Amino acid sequence: MKKEFTFLFLFALGLLGSQALNAQMARINQTIDPLEAESHLRFLTSDELKGRNTGSEELLIAGRYIAEQFRRSGLIPLGDQEGDYLQRVPLHSAVPPSEATVSIFGKDFENGKDLLMLNGGNLTLETTAVYLEDLQDYESADVKGKVVFTVLQNPRSALRNQDQITALEQAGAKGLVQIFGSGPGIPWQLLVNYLNRERLGVGEINTEEKAGLPHLWVRDTTNALVQELKGSASSALSVKIKGVHKKMVKAFNIVGKIEGTDPQLKKEHIVMCAHYDHVGIQKGDGQDSIYNGTRDNGIGTTGLINAAKYFGEHPPKRSIIVIALTGEEKGLLGSQYYVNDPKIPLEETVFAFNIDNSGYTNTEVVTLLDTNRTNIDALVFQAASEVGLGVIGDRMPSQNYYERSDQVSFASAGVPAVNFKMSMTAYDERITKYYHQPNDEFHTVDLDYIHKYWKSYIRAAELIGNWNKKPYWIKGDKFEAAGEKLYNKK
Ligand SMILES: [Zn+2]
Repeated sequence: MKKEFTFLFLFALGLLGSQALNAQMARINQTIDPLEAESHLRFLTSDELKGRNTGSEELLIAGRYIAEQFRRSGLIPLGDQEGDYLQRVPLHSAVPPSEATVSIFGKDFENGKDLLMLNGGNLTLETTAVYLEDLQDYESADVKGKVVFTVLQNPRSALRNQDQITALEQAGAKGLVQIFGSGPGIPWQLLVNYLNRERLGVGEINTEEKAGLPHLWVRDTTNALVQELKGSASSALSVKIKGVHKKMVKAFNIVGKIEGTDPQLKKEHIVMCAHYDHVGIQKGDGQDSIYNGTRDNGIGTTGLINAAKYFGEHPPKRSIIVIALTGEEKGLLGSQYYVNDPKIPLEETVFAFNIDNSGYTNTEVVTLLDTNRTNIDALVFQAASEVGLGVIGDRMPSQNYYERSDQVSFASAGVPAVNFKMSMTAYDERITKYYHQPNDEFHTVDLDYIHKYWKSYIRAAELIGNWNKKPYWIKGDKFEAAGEKLYNKK
């Protein structure tokens, strides 16, 4: 009897338990209409939005669309303007020269062909060249008023070697030209693609700022230039650089807030974020040149819009800050800006729950980047299991994915942060077929899986938002010290 009773009792409890769980999922199911969610994804990843490049009109349209979804969901606006959600991110674009030529020994080196400009402003210069075996020799050589030539040994370290360049400038040199011979093991064309294009950075343009010492690379794999420089006492040269300038680029993070229900816990904020930019229109595959960015990161952005809707109706105990981030593809610019200029003091933010994707390899699991970093793992496992998914951690730690998306901006500032990703069991053709490719399109995704993924993101955030413990770094984590600094400074 007793045994049976216990069994029945436990059975009944089990039923109650699963009903309680199902009630949470049922509430998510009732709030998130699948067709509505899919329509957000269809719109954001449509050809009309032209790949949502940072700096494009279409990304501004996407941002406005997200802001109005936040408004519908009742989010408190945290934008710069009263009643709006847009946080201006001051981005500038550094435009490479339209023309740059170095003429020496009757030969012209030209921008984008056999010349690259790393630093400096527009100029016209007639002077002489001085060749140094080693840049360190500048003190014993007469470099004043001259352009210093040297052989480029290592392009990577040259890019970082600002001290030597400053020293050269102080010694009165007019420029530095490094000769890219056959030594460096990097294809020249790769450097051209990387350096000879507009580059975005955070910050206002400072018109007072000096351009700095002109720093150029010229390509000569024949070694002729070095021989000629060594053989002549005085080598006349002219340098002409035109069209270098900086311009401001319009960019916005979209920020709203949901107030928590618990009088104490509502002072603790959880950031939910996803970047909504992608890479725009590029060369493409001949058929298509629009990079729709469905996986990266239309799905994450839609997951965020869904979460805003759900928590707008069913807030947890802690408060939530919902942020659609700009400029991720250009170097995590929107998230870096936010952590430096947060709308709620960062020490009142206890967790950042990012959602960003490159793709997925299978439909049975989600990836948490990373497990064993913060103490919230069990909550994510529970949320995923409630929609029938498993959870895996980082399967490719050597790729350092954790530090390649917006969560690292929060982590570096000390806020415990993770990325809730679709499954990444390997970096193989299941990913590369779509990752930063024009066919990362809406019609190529498994919607059944995507819906489960979206729901588990909401459910995990709800569990974290209601948790009786505070999210924090696991002891010994790389970012734990930053966390100590952030939260204990009062
Ligand atoms: Zn992304």
